Amino acid sequence: MNINNLPDNPYLLLTPGPLSTSKSVKAAMLQDWCTWDEDYNLKVVQEIRYRLTLLATSMSGLYSTVLMQGSGTFAVESVIGSAIPSSCKLLIIANGAYGMRMIQIANVLNIPYETYILDEVSQPDIDQVREILEKMPEITHLAIVHCETTTGILNPVREITALAKHYNKTTIVDAMSSFGGIPMDVHEWQIDFLISSANKCIQGVPGFGFIIARKDKLEQCKNQARSLSLDLYDQWITMENGGKWRFTSPTHVVRAFLQALVELEEEGGIEKRYARYSKNQKILVKGMREIGFTTLLPDFMHSPIITSFLSPNQKEYSFIKFYNLLKDNGYVIYPGKISKGDTFRIGNIGVVNPSDIDKLVEAIISIKFWGD
Ligand SMILES: *Cc1c(COP(=O)(O)O)cnc(C)c1O
Repeated sequence: MNINNLPDNPYLLLTPGPLSTSKSVKAAMLQDWCTWDEDYNLKVVQEIRYRLTLLATSMSGLYSTVLMQGSGTFAVESVIGSAIPSSCKLLIIANGAYGMRMIQIANVLNIPYETYILDEVSQPDIDQVREILEKMPEITHLAIVHCETTTGILNPVREITALAKHYNKTTIVDAMSSFGGIPMDVHEWQIDFLISSANKCIQGVPGFGFIIARKDKLEQCKNQARSLSLDLYDQWITMENGGKWRFTSPTHVVRAFLQALVELEEEGGIEKRYARYSKNQKILVKGMREIGFTTLLPDFMHSPIITSFLSPNQKEYSFIKFYNLLKDNGYVIYPGKISKGDTFRIGNIGVVNPSDIDKLVEAIISIKFWGD
């Protein structure tokens, strides 16, 4: 098949996932797979698990990767629901919607927890975390989001997990929107459970999440799950047995994900992808500031993943009008997600290049929906 014959997407997604994928990733979905055949189990599922563990750390022998059906939240829920015994207590650090979602999960699953909640434009403070851990020795686990996609803020995960380990806590990191796009080593960063999903920086299509975890920590999840289908230990043990999934796996999505991993390697790996995303983000912010837009966050807090801008204060501005005009020009952006203040977001990830961002800025200038 000549993939150039596939139709172009009608617009470029500048969103935090699902995002713009390559034609070759989409084309990889054009075969049907039998889930007990080695062509799928060994050559696709096990290959993906192997590659992900290697991408995550140079100490890959200590870690294992578990794939979990569903969107990213299902993978987060499987970790929170499986890793924390009923006698234990979780500290959740939240400065955005995804941190708050972990609190919701703990609530629904009846998991004892404490919170350290900040506003959406503040990074957690190390001394405050230390104080909480000192004051509450009953805390056994700590969970934090790496890049809070709500705003694009980057949290100081490495410092916080180092502190958590100093107090001997188990660490859970939602690196959904950063893994594959920002260099990190789970072992060096002392992360016990790292969670991400297919449709973010690896540039696959949506349908499953994955957990990269220390094997000794996975062992401890046995018989602890509060859900049958989201039982992390059971899913792991079944997958260890030749790449099987307990329940129907999203075969086409999984095959496309392997292609996305191959393309990540072809691009030059995570460092190179990080450089591209960072360039996208810098060009975007520079261009938008030149037109008169203001970013929600100061530069030092910023991830290269997604950028929040304050909405223009033109009287006639409405997000949906702005959105539709940009869409007519071939670009799809994202609404804001912060609780106070009016913002919109532009994603920098996916099959998006600096030249696309240049053209986006030109399109925004041409539709004149900015400042007054
Ligand atoms: C995308 C994302 C999730 C998962 O969201 P789903 O809609 O369930 O895929 C979780 N955390 C963060 C930080 C994310 O960016």
